[in-house]
Amino acid sequence: MYFGAHVSIAGGLGNAPQRAADFGCEVFQIFSRSPRGGAAPALTDEIVKNFLAQCKEYNQHAWYIHTPYYLNLASSKSHIRNDSIRVIREELDRGHAISATAIMTHLGSSKDMERSEALELVSDGISKIMDGYKGDTKFLLEISAGAGNVVGNTLEELDWLIREAGLARNKKIGVCIDTAHAFASGYDMRTKKDSDVFVKKIDTVLGLERLGVFHCNDSMVGLGARKDRHDHIGKGEIGKVGFQALVRHPKLHEVDCIVETPTPEGMKQDIALLKKMRRV
Ligand SMILES: [Zn+2]
Ligand SMILES: [Zn+2]
Repeated sequence: MYFGAHVSIAGGLGNAPQRAADFGCEVFQIFSRSPRGGAAPALTDEIVKNFLAQCKEYNQHAWYIHTPYYLNLASSKSHIRNDSIRVIREELDRGHAISATAIMTHLGSSKDMERSEALELVSDGISKIMDGYKGDTKFLLEISAGAGNVVGNTLEELDWLIREAGLARNKKIGVCIDTAHAFASGYDMRTKKDSDVFVKKIDTVLGLERLGVFHCNDSMVGLGARKDRHDHIGKGEIGKVGFQALVRHPKLHEVDCIVETPTPEGMKQDIALLKKMRRV
C-alpha cells in the first residue's frame, strides 16, 4: 500500500510530482483542469514527457486524476448531464495520455426526481463515458456520504450502476472508497473487527478487484451522519485503530491511499502517520 495526497498543478502539470514528494507522497492525485469549470489545458507531447520525467525523478509510483466537482450525471437537465459525460470522458483520455492509474468522479445528485430515475440516468451516463474507451486508465465511481439526494453512497448502489451500465465484465471500471464518505454513509470501521467486516463487504458486494483506490480521510461527523466533512487521520470519528487495520489488511497491499485532509501541514503528518502504521 502506497500513500499520497491530492496536490496542486499550479504553475504546470510538471510541478506536481515535486510537490507530492515534498508532502512525503509515494503516489499522488491532481485535478488536470480547473475543478470549477472551463476548458482543459492542452496536454502537449512536451508537457507529458516532462511530467513523466518528473514522476520518475521524484519516485512516484502512481498518479490519479480527480474530475471537477461541478459535474452531475444525475441532473434533470440534459445539457448538464451531457457536459458531465463529455468532461469525464476527456479526463479519462487525458488520464491515459499521462499514464494515470485511474480517474475518479463524484456521480452527482438528483433534486426533482425519484431516486430510481436518477440512478437510471447515472448508469446511462457511465455507459456513454465508457463507450468505445480503449485506454489503460481506469474509471472509478467514488462512494458518496449520501447527503441530500447524492447518488452512490452504498456499495450495492455502486455495484448496481456498474451492472446496469452493461460493464459487469469490464475490468476498467471500479470504485474509489473515501473512508470519510463511507463512514458518514453508515459503514463502521472504528475497530479492527469493523474494518475487517467493511473490507469483506466490499469484496462480497463488488469484488476487491473493483477497489481502485482509497481516499483516506478521517470524518468530522459520526457514523451514518451523511455529511462530507474530512478530518486529519486519527483526529476524527474513525480514529487511528480503524485506519491501522485498513492499512495492515492482508488483502489491501495493492491498493493505494490518497489523503484529502484540511491543511497542508496536517496532510504531511497524515502521510507520515499512515506510513508508520504500515510497518508491522
Ligand atoms: Zn472525491
Ligand atoms: Zn469528501
